[in-house]
Amino acid sequence: MQPNSIKINKSRKSRSIRIRVDEELNVLIYAGKGFSDSYIQAFINKNEQWIQKQLKKQSKSKAEIQNILDAHPNQILQFGKWKSLEGIDLKTNTFLKKILLETLQLRISYFSELMELYPKKISIRLNRSVLGSCSYDNKLSFSLLLYFASFDLLDYVIIHELAHIKHKNHSTRFWNLVSKFCPDYKDKRTILHQETRLYRALYDHLLKQAKSSI
Ligand SMILES: [Zn+2]
Repeated sequence: MQPNSIKINKSRKSRSIRIRVDEELNVLIYAGKGFSDSYIQAFINKNEQWIQKQLKKQSKSKAEIQNILDAHPNQILQFGKWKSLEGIDLKTNTFLKKILLETLQLRISYFSELMELYPKKISIRLNRSVLGSCSYDNKLSFSLLLYFASFDLLDYVIIHELAHIKHKNHSTRFWNLVSKFCPDYKDKRTILHQETRLYRALYDHLLKQAKSSI
């Protein structure tokens, strides 16, 4: 299987060499500037089997996501359930943001009372890899991609970020607090990790549809 491209990124700071295959089937090499081109080429050759395995894995999951999109024409996934796109203005993120914010506010106030932890502010950003974050002064930020996540996964993200109000780290005490309110947090974390790619694809798909409808 051929990669889409092989990109070599040289960095002044780095002293190591590492390799990654991304979602679009590109092979990415990150190397310190001390590594010669022939060394890098030999490194790629040495890792050929691993690259092939990753390319297969990535292309399989790309095809799976495409199947999901094809199976739901003119539909949008909202909190884990498919609904009709009819009447939804896709040209801006306003609709997604509004629904997500309303839902977050409701569920956060419920868990805030339960956990006795109260955020200073809640905001939504289009973050493609980080689904939630908590600032040093307890402002919570959530990714717009959570619009696609089912309620039980959304609740895990909320509990996780509220727990950061008390513990600004991922220590044992932090995870103990999370597990008190979300006992199966490990499973949910794994599922979310896998689903984030689908959420990104869903978002990009919506954008494309919005553009073609103008
Ligand atoms: Zn965290």
